Amino acid sequence: MYTNPTIAVVGAGPGGLTCARILQLAGVAVTVHDADASLAARDQGGTLDLHADSGQIALADAQLTTEFAALARPEGQSHRMVDPAGTVLAEQVAAADESAAPEIDRAQLRAMLVDSLAPGTVRWGRKLVELQAGADGTPHRLVFADGTVETADVVIGADGAWSRVRAALTDTVPRYTGVSFVEVLFTRTAERHPEIATLVGDGHLWANGDGRTMVLQRNSDDVVRGYLGMRIDLDWLAAAGLGTADGRGGVLPASPALDANATQATDTERVRAEVRRRFADFAPELLRIVDESEGPLANRPIMALPTPTTWEHRRGIALIGDAAHVMAPFGGNGVNLAMLDGAELARGIVGALRDGTDVDVAIRAAEAVMVPRGAEVGAAANAAIVEHFAAGGPDLDDVPDFDAEAARWKERADAYRAAREG
Ligand SMILES: Cc1cc2nc3c(=O)[nH]c(=O)nc-3n(C[C@H](O)[C@H](O)[C@H](O)COP(=O)(O)OP(=O)(O)OC[C@H]3O[C@@H](n4cnc5c(N)ncnc54)[C@H](O)[C@@H]3O)c2cc1C
Repeated sequence: MYTNPTIAVVGAGPGGLTCARILQLAGVAVTVHDADASLAARDQGGTLDLHADSGQIALADAQLTTEFAALARPEGQSHRMVDPAGTVLAEQVAAADESAAPEIDRAQLRAMLVDSLAPGTVRWGRKLVELQAGADGTPHRLVFADGTVETADVVIGADGAWSRVRAALTDTVPRYTGVSFVEVLFTRTAERHPEIATLVGDGHLWANGDGRTMVLQRNSDDVVRGYLGMRIDLDWLAAAGLGTADGRGGVLPASPALDANATQATDTERVRAEVRRRFADFAPELLRIVDESEGPLANRPIMALPTPTTWEHRRGIALIGDAAHVMAPFGGNGVNLAMLDGAELARGIVGALRDGTDVDVAIRAAEAVMVPRGAEVGAAANAAIVEHFAAGGPDLDDVPDFDAEAARWKERADAYRAAREG
């Protein structure tokens, strides 16, 4: 049994940071290692909605509800759906006080969580290359790309889709869902892109075609981000002669050490022309999304782990969030589950340390909840993305109704809290 274990979290994403915050609030020492050189080292991407029954429960456990409310955008929950001709098919405007799933920029969420930790908790520039699992309760060795090695009794793998912690437990790696997203970006939108600002409104725009969808999402600070989603071969960039010069051009790397998101083309204007050709039947006002996008039109192949993904438990090693169950971003559950996983694992560890029981038993108990939950939600998300991008376009009856979802998140939140108190 561990007394006063050293705890290392690998990955300063929403899951790992939430976990570290709750441990630290309870006086448990923890270090977080992240591959990024700093908090601002890379573009953090778009907006995330934190659901009442998961992300918001984790935030409450982290005592960050007030900080979240100061940054959150309830109006961002509004949705508009159009067909390729631009005809509005459905529209839902969120009430100003709607609390089911307010939006927050990913960069703001991550910064808020980092700021809540004691200074120095996150060690930036620490890319884990290998976790050497200790035998029979001996400490695990964390080997980093900068040549440093650390040991820890408990290692929490929160290092995302291409987790190196997971590689110590299972060879399973994410697979391509058959759908890729090309990222679009608009800054100073009101002034530079007024038509885009009108299209997206305060929330989200979905323009659904046959195997192709345009998504726009309002972010804070007059920024709009979005995706041009396509059912397409993984190596479509390479097939169009637009792959990277490193020779991988669009092909899923064989080694899990390589991130398939590295599939990029450097000639943005040729990518734009290629994408525009693929969306040619969309209305001119929608094609502005392709034509006016700023930035590199980065390609994001959507990857998912098999459901379920399981592993033989190793003493003192846990996986949370995308490391355990990366899934298609349909339903917006990834960040919510990552934060809930992190909160539940932290609560379990804190409880074991307080009661003087075995921390590893608490890790196993958390795993017993997280793994099937991630598998169930992941299977639904992965099926939804395939169905959405199927030939003929999505069936409108299958598109989730926001009001019904909002009611469901709130009911589940009440049930979760009641079960915990009971
Ligand atoms: C296009 C797209 C849109 C999405 N939209 C939504 C959405 O609207 N709503 C939603 O809920 N989810 C969405 N998701 C999913 C969501 O982003 C993830 O589920 C969520 O970020 C998972 O959190 P995490 O903390 O587990 O991992 P991550 O956020 O991936 O964080 C992992 C951290 O680990 C670090 N790291 C990685 N490798 C190493 C290493 N070897 N050593 C050290 N550190 C490492 C990374 O730098 C990172 O900080 C989307 C995903 C994609 C691809």
